[in-house]
Amino acid sequence: MTQPNRIEPDLEFVRDVIGSGGDTLKKCFQCATCSVVCQLAPADEPFPRKEMIQAQWGLKDKLVSDPDIWLCHNCNDCSTYCPRGAKPGDVMNALRKKSIEHYAFPQAIAKRVGDPKSLPLLIAIPAILIAVIIGLTNRWWHGEAVYMDGDKAINLDQVIKSWEMIPIWAVDVLFILTGLFAVTVFAKGLLRFWGDLDAGRTRTIGVVQAAIDVVKDLAIHSNFKECSTNQDRYLGHMGVFYGFVALFATTSCIVVGFYFIDLILGIHVAKTPWAQWNPVKIMGNLGAIALLAGCFLLIRSRLNQDESESASSYYDWFLLGLVVVVGATGFLAEIVRLMGIGFLYYLLYYVHLVSVWMLFAYTPFSKLAHLVYRTAALIHNRACGRELLAKVPAVSVKEGQQAEAS
Ligand code: SF4
Ligand code: SF4
Repeated sequence: MTQPNRIEPDLEFVRDVIGSGGDTLKKCFQCATCSVVCQLAPADEPFPRKEMIQAQWGLKDKLVSDPDIWLCHNCNDCSTYCPRGAKPGDVMNALRKKSIEHYAFPQAIAKRVGDPKSLPLLIAIPAILIAVIIGLTNRWWHGEAVYMDGDKAINLDQVIKSWEMIPIWAVDVLFILTGLFAVTVFAKGLLRFWGDLDAGRTRTIGVVQAAIDVVKDLAIHSNFKECSTNQDRYLGHMGVFYGFVALFATTSCIVVGFYFIDLILGIHVAKTPWAQWNPVKIMGNLGAIALLAGCFLLIRSRLNQDESESASSYYDWFLLGLVVVVGATGFLAEIVRLMGIGFLYYLLYYVHLVSVWMLFAYTPFSKLAHLVYRTAALIHNRACGRELLAKVPAVSVKEGQQAEAS
């Protein structure tokens, strides 16, 4: 005789998912419309209907390691067409938050990042840390009223440069250590996540080939394009994605220029700040514009979205707000520096450093961790030979519903 499966629901997990934006979870009556309209759900074991029932049952272990929650791009097509208003898109979003918390180390930081009451503390940590570093290293307060530009001594009050406030080496040491912390947290989480993915499905294709295919898809955001009801998200995400890529490339060029060309080779063509017409500078400025334009589209998309179909959570706004502050303070600081307004420049630069530190340090605990977990899930999914297929156009499902109603 077949033994019945015994299910042990984790009720605290259910409460957490409900509290993290999945408050409509219990409305689902398992009609599967969501899995049909989702343009990304594979033919075998489609999502998000199965996640809805697993979440109702409180199957925490299964859900936090479920790669399918990462294959979802949060377009909310499914929530738009759900006949019960169960908002499966929001539930998938809440499950991703629980997954990030599960794989993060230490988990207490992840809980803080997801809790609005902890925001003052999360800001205070870098604000105090960077203020202390400035206090210890600032050259004004140490009586150094000039700096040397080659052989030429220049009075500090004649120029506005970031290192008047905080030396470049101090910024670099701070961000290298913070970056190493983030990489370590990610590495630990990713190893556990990948092990869980392997335990769930068998890979049939080489990981390298799968990774190349996924990078190609990510470059053109092909999966985003499949979602039909929210095109602002597609363009907004593209802007933020390529904005970050351009800013990362700009920072890398500056590091190579400053440390290798200027300091090691002694060729002073790379001395910062670089002229506005410098191609690297142009790339950085275009990156900042793309980042801010992408954020604008994402914010507009969130503000315009119908509350009956999806509700933005604090978790979403934390990341969006942080990226806006990073982009806006960096861009405004540049403009104010060119205008020669020293006090405002240093203030904006300080806020910029605080926000960039937050982005670095809290990335493994925030929604931005999807960079790593989603990419890993997409690669593993591809390596298992499981295709994300566009199936029935969502609009035809809507038409079918309307026809049935009339
Ligand atoms: S469409 Fe709505 S009610 Fe139907 S299975 Fe999906 S979430 Fe549940
Ligand atoms: S990709 Fe869009 S339609 Fe599919 S589950 Fe996610 S939110 Fe729903």
